[in-house]
Amino acid sequence: MKTDQNAYTIIVGCGRLGANLANALSDAQENVLIIDKNKDAFRKLSPSYGGLATAADATDLDALQEAGMVKAGTVVVVTNNDNVNVMVAQLAREVFKVREVIARLYDPERECVYREFDIKTICPAVLSMKEIEKILGKKPTEVTHLAQAE
Ligand code: AMP
Repeated sequence: MKTDQNAYTIIVGCGRLGANLANALSDAQENVLIIDKNKDAFRKLSPSYGGLATAADATDLDALQEAGMVKAGTVVVVTNNDNVNVMVAQLAREVFKVREVIARLYDPERECVYREFDIKTICPAVLSMKEIEKILGKKPTEVTHLAQAE
């Protein structure tokens, strides 16, 4: 396992995306901790998962403190709730001073909130539209236009 601070990743939300990411990082020998409010969600982790798993509501500041968020180099926030993702991502940046914060956003219009706090965003709807446009052979200008409309 890597020991430097920036190799410690916290994933918030153990849904399909969070669990797969945690499994992949663990397979790559990264130090990873995954948080979910529902402990049954950890069943999605692979039997070979070598990281930590904490059952907690990620909006609880004490829980984030106990998870050692201050030591994390990267925090990835992928719960199914944009409000939770906004709040946790901002706590990671502003309170715990995490260098790299990535959040999934269902509502692309919230992206401006994140930009202000230097948080990177992934929006499934926008990514899907870009891929569909690519498959349909749309001109790159239309893809650029889509990106600007996020
Ligand atoms: P999915 O919709 O498959 O990406 O899963 C999202 C995951 O986020 C679920 O396992 C939820 O239990 C989890 N989740 C939602 N809200 C919170 C929260 N406040 N704290 C921790 N985990 C959460």
